[in-house]
Amino acid sequence: MSLIVQKYGGSSVSDAEALKRVAARVVAAKKAGNDLVVVVSAMGDTTDELLDLAGQVTEKPPAREMDILLTAGERVSMALLSMAVNDLGVTAHAYTGQQAGLRTDNQYGKASIVGIVPERIARDVKEGTVAIIAGFQGVNELNDVTTLGRGGSDTTAVALAAAMHADVCEIYTDVDGLFSADPRIVPTARRVRSLDYEETLELAGQGAKILHLRAVEFARKYSVPLHVRSSYSELEGTWIMNPDERDMESPIITGIAHDRSQAKLSILGVPDVPGKAAKVFGRVAEVGANIDMIVQNIAASDPGKTDISFTLPHDSGPVALAAIEDMKDELQYREVTYNEQIGKLSLIGAGMRSHPGVSAKLFGALAAAGINIEMISTSEIRISVVVNIEELDKAVRAVHTAFDLDAEDTQAVVYGGTGR
Ligand code: ASP
Ligand code: MG
Repeated sequence: MSLIVQKYGGSSVSDAEALKRVAARVVAAKKAGNDLVVVVSAMGDTTDELLDLAGQVTEKPPAREMDILLTAGERVSMALLSMAVNDLGVTAHAYTGQQAGLRTDNQYGKASIVGIVPERIARDVKEGTVAIIAGFQGVNELNDVTTLGRGGSDTTAVALAAAMHADVCEIYTDVDGLFSADPRIVPTARRVRSLDYEETLELAGQGAKILHLRAVEFARKYSVPLHVRSSYSELEGTWIMNPDERDMESPIITGIAHDRSQAKLSILGVPDVPGKAAKVFGRVAEVGANIDMIVQNIAASDPGKTDISFTLPHDSGPVALAAIEDMKDELQYREVTYNEQIGKLSLIGAGMRSHPGVSAKLFGALAAAGINIEMISTSEIRISVVVNIEELDKAVRAVHTAFDLDAEDTQAVVYGGTGR
């Protein structure tokens, strides 16, 4: 008998019919002889609607009150799903995050889980009752409810799976798993059979909308196998697990992520003396901008000067730009430019560690497609390039083909979003 934690995203529980379908699925898994713990997200776009409502009553909702509001979304789903499961003749109990023993720190809106005491859940499992838990929430030391950040139900599920030593954590969504690229851009993208945690973290960190980052970190830390799959079919989805548990023949390249949310800020003609970069990035950190890529090189046309470029999210662009403009006298640069018309392509695969030539092939594919590379950054298992946003889709397709990712195993799937 296995202990399975199942998590259903918002798109899988969008209305009463969908909830009943999920209930039937839960009951089937239970009747197949498994112990079952189920985590649910808010129905459909409920969280967005609640945020919108808050915005209609005030411009500045207090974070504590916002969390009380947002946790309501998941509570609606957990109660309704539990009713639907009971209706099918299987005993189920619904629990809030607090009742499930999820303790968090005090950061309203983006709380971290600091501990789990899933006593009641464990008791239910022992008695054969299905426990159904509201995702995305916990309780802090003040006994206030908190939320884990958008998409946080994934993290609830993985954390519970870890705490209860579940055999697998199944993440149900509206797509058949993770794909080698976004099928809306690359129609020949295929389902990836398995990834390791590192690859998943890189993909999620590079703009692929797959899983809550913290959920993957939890899974890695506690070696929880994840199975991302569709709630609309019985098809096998994508497994995320330790490298040694994967098939022998994992491909060198797992997939391509793309990101249109970054902008590039360049400070040109900065005197090439110690301390300038420290000042720039110190200030940028103060205004709260999260830097991604950084490139610094000697300005060939300008001896003794250097150019510093970095990428950051669009939202932080204007404040960071203003901060750098304010430092013109202090930094003594010649000019600063800001460009939102960029896109980032990231090629990810654990096999890069042991296979040379991946970057040459990537750059070759872009060259053959006539695409200019503006910036490059790498990790052990990732190569990212920044290109003109107009060329991003073309770049993703060219690279996908160059690495033979189009092909076999293609399933007819409709990519309907992230399932959150
Ligand atoms: N309902 C929350 C959100 O939409 C949490 C989740 O879906 O995981 O972000
Ligand atoms: Mg949601």
